[in-house]
Amino acid sequence: MYAIAIALLLLLSACSSAQPTGPDAARALIEESAVSMGGWAAMDAVKVQQIITAGGDLEPMQAVKPGGDPRVINRFSQGIIYDFENKRMRLTFDAIREYPSTQPVKFNEVIDGDAGMLETPDAKENIQREPLHPSRLATRLRDMRRTPIRLLYTAKTAPELTRVEDRKDGNTTIHIIRYKDGNLPVEVHFDSFNKLPMRVIYTEDDPIWGDTLNELAFFEWRDYNGVRLPQVFAVFLNGNKIREERARNIINNPRYDAAGLVVPDEIKAKPADGERIVSQWPLRRVVMGVGYQDFGREQKVDVVEVAKGVYHIKGSSHHSLAVEMKDYIVVVEAPLFEERSLAVMKAIEAKVPGKPIKYLVMTHFHIDHSGGIRAYAAKGATIVAADEAVPFVKTVTSRPKTIRPDTLAKAGNTSPQVQSAKDVRSLTDGERTLELREIPNPHAVGMLAAYLPQEKILFVSDLFTPGTAVDPSNTGGIENAAALYKAVVDQNLQVEKIVGGHGETAPLRDLVKVASMKKGS
Ligand SMILES: [Zn+2]
Repeated sequence: MYAIAIALLLLLSACSSAQPTGPDAARALIEESAVSMGGWAAMDAVKVQQIITAGGDLEPMQAVKPGGDPRVINRFSQGIIYDFENKRMRLTFDAIREYPSTQPVKFNEVIDGDAGMLETPDAKENIQREPLHPSRLATRLRDMRRTPIRLLYTAKTAPELTRVEDRKDGNTTIHIIRYKDGNLPVEVHFDSFNKLPMRVIYTEDDPIWGDTLNELAFFEWRDYNGVRLPQVFAVFLNGNKIREERARNIINNPRYDAAGLVVPDEIKAKPADGERIVSQWPLRRVVMGVGYQDFGREQKVDVVEVAKGVYHIKGSSHHSLAVEMKDYIVVVEAPLFEERSLAVMKAIEAKVPGKPIKYLVMTHFHIDHSGGIRAYAAKGATIVAADEAVPFVKTVTSRPKTIRPDTLAKAGNTSPQVQSAKDVRSLTDGERTLELREIPNPHAVGMLAAYLPQEKILFVSDLFTPGTAVDPSNTGGIENAAALYKAVVDQNLQVEKIVGGHGETAPLRDLVKVASMKKGS
């Protein structure tokens, strides 16, 4: 009996020494990792670091269908200079966008302590300077704290630092530490073989998916003047790759122009406008060269009555349609994020007081067209989506959102009503009819347009942007317009006005013009 107890104790202590856990174990692991990276002294000596990479951005939330292959957004070159001592950085981004159309995306960001500046070339290549969007700034500062040479410093001084049980990843045993960065939980995985960090995973907020794992993974380590650093970086959101880049050069303590890392006083003096939300969302929009400016900010809302009781509810980049029925309202399109939906709902309540929003129609699932659906679900609206997008809507409306709780999360255990457009082909109050029409097109499977036959109005997103000229080189845009026009003809829709999820309201002939730019049709 005594012998068995001793044997058990030995076994237990052997196990616990193989897998130490807790704060001290975390600190010990960080020390081991620091040795692997070249030692604290070698890392301390790197006051400034320049990382020049080339890579590409991907967007799973712009796929043709939910869960489909991500769209390739761009090919980029990027240079970053970090001045760690003064908490300064300069990022230079130079990309050729591939989607939704070919065009350059160029900008510089400068961070100087707690202040940020964006530099963008205008049409004449003159640099325009403005304060960096607060969320973009907060997210870049986070990225600075998790860049390989800073990661162990961030970890060792972080609150709630602890080591948890090892995990197996194929044949590799992974050592794991956890800590908090602000209000965000962080996990760092180390390769048990060489003690180098493999990946750092933040739980952050995403407007659509709620609590989201943002993973920066490191590959192909090599020695740079006594410090080991990875040459390949990849970013995953909830396991889906959104970026891969390879170092073309990493220079420790380079010669550089320090003036390029200074934010001028006149930019610093401008009041901070918006919330500092750490989220990949604005950066994913930025690398596409598309709208993100209202994220974490007050929403711009313009209500334009396009027919009696039919309202175009416009924002700076994304719009909705509200249709007044006898006893309720139908809203088409819940773009961007919760704050957008709340502002749209408020505008509707002001125009048409006392009528509940009974239906919210989602045109398609893309990143900028589905972020507002949860707010309508919280209000008790039935979410109507194309059949292919129904599982997506069900998943999104049941995701946890604890980092930045929205109205649906705060409402607790609601079970949102979700219906397939197959079962809700038309809505009528006896006088007015709203039809949901599926438009076959190359942009997104199950694209819904809202058709008001009496008013001869068609509300459509992304396939055509009323009031915006289309360049003949924008073949994707022309193909989308052609697909929309074909659907109008094939489905015998009587359309006078097209109201845009982007853009304005335009006569049908504007669509015909763009559609006929397609060669051979
Ligand atoms: Zn789209």
